[in-house]
Amino acid sequence: MRGEDSVCDKMFEQISIIGFGLIGSSMARAIKKNGLAKKLICVDINPAVCKKVEELGIADDTTTNLAQGVEGSDLVVLAVPVGAVPVVCQAIAGSLKDGAVISDVGSVKSAVLEAMQEHLPAHVDFVPAHPIAGTEHSGPEAGFPELFEDRWCLLTPAPDTPIRSVEKVSALWQAFGARIEIMEAHHHDLILGITSHLPHLIAYTIVDTANNLEDDIKSEVIKYSASGFRGFTRIAASDPTMWRDVFMNNKTAVLEILQRFTEDLTAMQKAIRQGDGDYLFNTFSRTRDIRREIMGLGPEGFPSPEQMKKND
Ligand code: NAP
Repeated sequence: MRGEDSVCDKMFEQISIIGFGLIGSSMARAIKKNGLAKKLICVDINPAVCKKVEELGIADDTTTNLAQGVEGSDLVVLAVPVGAVPVVCQAIAGSLKDGAVISDVGSVKSAVLEAMQEHLPAHVDFVPAHPIAGTEHSGPEAGFPELFEDRWCLLTPAPDTPIRSVEKVSALWQAFGARIEIMEAHHHDLILGITSHLPHLIAYTIVDTANNLEDDIKSEVIKYSASGFRGFTRIAASDPTMWRDVFMNNKTAVLEILQRFTEDLTAMQKAIRQGDGDYLFNTFSRTRDIRREIMGLGPEGFPSPEQMKKND
């Protein structure tokens, strides 16, 4: 599917990507590298981002004008923070070509789908997408074309979305080297609530707890920080705007998962207070099994060659 003769090349003549940060610029690089569109337009409200994109040469055209930037495009991808999706939809609604496909890359899906349904016209199709790939870095310099290789990309179209549009978006992500799964938006938000949103919340909290310690203890925490705490600081360095918007827009699922987590944490607290070593040992053994299960599936969540052989 990659290369000049790819299906995507014939499907999308002109692609506009709104928001040229880590994800938008990685998509742009992958589109350019694999020749997946005749024209690629960078749309970003930040003039400094457009200037940087021009220097990097990763788009054919740049503009800070959202409405102008989507004119004539047959695919428009919103790669902005989830909280900016409604305002971007409003800005582009009157300029979209008949039959255009509108997608996004947001880490929350129900809120994005609702915003698209509310603000975009009936003559376009929405195919929301979420690549499970990223780093803690932001901005157009942070992107790279291989970011999506061997990663999942979850698509959450509404049930009445024409299958042809879903197939086009699937083909584009597959051309980036990603694997596709189609699921319902609420289901996506619950699953990502436990696998991604809660871990980020824990990391932000634990690093802030350390930060709130008295100064002399704090300096020692930094000095002696072992891999456990350092790992949390890496996650807690993730973009504040992006993660604020994730929690503001996935409230129900995150609060549900957080409630369960709080109950399990309280049980741990009780076991420690009561000296219930069996409880701790059994819990830690169960979680170790889960780690082994995940590692058996390979670092990206796909079966390793050894696992494949075992499954044959
Ligand atoms: P990023 O590096 O911060 O890039 C976002 C870009 O969008 C920035 O250039 C920003 O401009 C621009 N922008 C913000 N509001 C805008 C608006 N109203 N109109 C036009 N452009 C606007 O963010 P990112 O990491 O690529 O994340 C983008 C999306 O991908 C988010 O929805 C996030 O949930 C999703 N995602 C991220 C990851 C990850 O690991 N980072 C992984 C999967 C999905 P400024 O520079 O002025 O802010």
